[in-house]
Amino acid sequence: RAWAAAASAVLVTGIGLGGCSFVTGTTDIVQLVGVAMPTTTSLRWIEDGNNVKAQLEDLGYAVELVYAENDVPTQVAQVEAMISHGADLLIIGSVDGTALKDQLASAAAAGIPIISYDRLIRDSPDVDYYATFDNLRVGTQQATSLLQGLGVLDAAGEPTGAAGPFAIEVFAGSPDDNNATVFYEGAFAVLQPYIDSGVLVIPSGETDFQTIAIQAWDPVLGGERMDALLSTTYTSSTEVIDGILSPYDGISRAVIESLKTAGYGTGDRPLPVVSGQDAELPSVQSIIAGEQYSTIYKDTRQLAEVTVAMGDALLKGAEPETNDITSYDNGTGIVPTYLLGPLVVTQATYQSILVGGGYYTEDELR
Ligand code: BGC
Repeated sequence: RAWAAAASAVLVTGIGLGGCSFVTGTTDIVQLVGVAMPTTTSLRWIEDGNNVKAQLEDLGYAVELVYAENDVPTQVAQVEAMISHGADLLIIGSVDGTALKDQLASAAAAGIPIISYDRLIRDSPDVDYYATFDNLRVGTQQATSLLQGLGVLDAAGEPTGAAGPFAIEVFAGSPDDNNATVFYEGAFAVLQPYIDSGVLVIPSGETDFQTIAIQAWDPVLGGERMDALLSTTYTSSTEVIDGILSPYDGISRAVIESLKTAGYGTGDRPLPVVSGQDAELPSVQSIIAGEQYSTIYKDTRQLAEVTVAMGDALLKGAEPETNDITSYDNGTGIVPTYLLGPLVVTQATYQSILVGGGYYTEDELR
């Protein structure tokens, strides 16, 4: 990274073909930030990437933004490429949280700081900082909203005394994403007492994380698991499913499609209460239409802001702001973290939270 350390000379305004930096103007050399995101198949990551890039560019950094389409070797190669292009900072939303160890070691050896974005990169001592939403809280919020939708808890989160039993099924996210286990833990902390007391039953008996995890958060796999549950567990006309804990909007929508194909959502068999995550546009529309029950809103503009502020501090030799130095051990030690607050969105709150917060316009939601 000799060019970055060279005396003030020229202004780099972008990345040329083949990763060469190109130059205009006569002021300081602009530093390059490599931003690796997991996939464009889910809307949130497109927003994340665009927000991080735009905010970095506003501060005068050059940005190389890449997406790995959930493919681990692709992301490994992308991170390697960004290092060889002379990145001064890496911001990584990982596909497999344990697969980047060697690349991060090379980055660290070259003095490149690393920020883990939204998902914790595990088993690498080279992750400097982590910016995310409070993942445990996401899990508790998903489960709480499920119980509210079932009428077990009231709007304030207090038990109503409803005895059930309510039949639910539980889905988890990708096993290679650290967040998925944290969401699962948060959710079960809320659900378990109701399972123990018999208010909730899980007719399939499938509660083990590995059994219910959906690889790569793939909606197709989520829909297939729902199809399988319906054809093996809910076979008689009296076996009705009342609720689904779904960890992510893409899976929620696939689950709802599967349920509709099996006859739910008509006449005497309403759709179950289905949770979600990310406030993706089609899921918010589904909530408004009375199909999906809830989602968890994570304002990607805020996450970008916090991450960009961290990166800017690191590049200026200052200490980034964090607000949690106990929760996230990546297997090699605690990674100092900035945690943001997720919010539950339902029919009752989408307007004030999403429209009021400028995330979507009323027109987009129609
Ligand atoms: C993110 C969630 C997202 C999921 C699937 C997780 O790591 O925290 O917001 O729903 O990945 O993309």
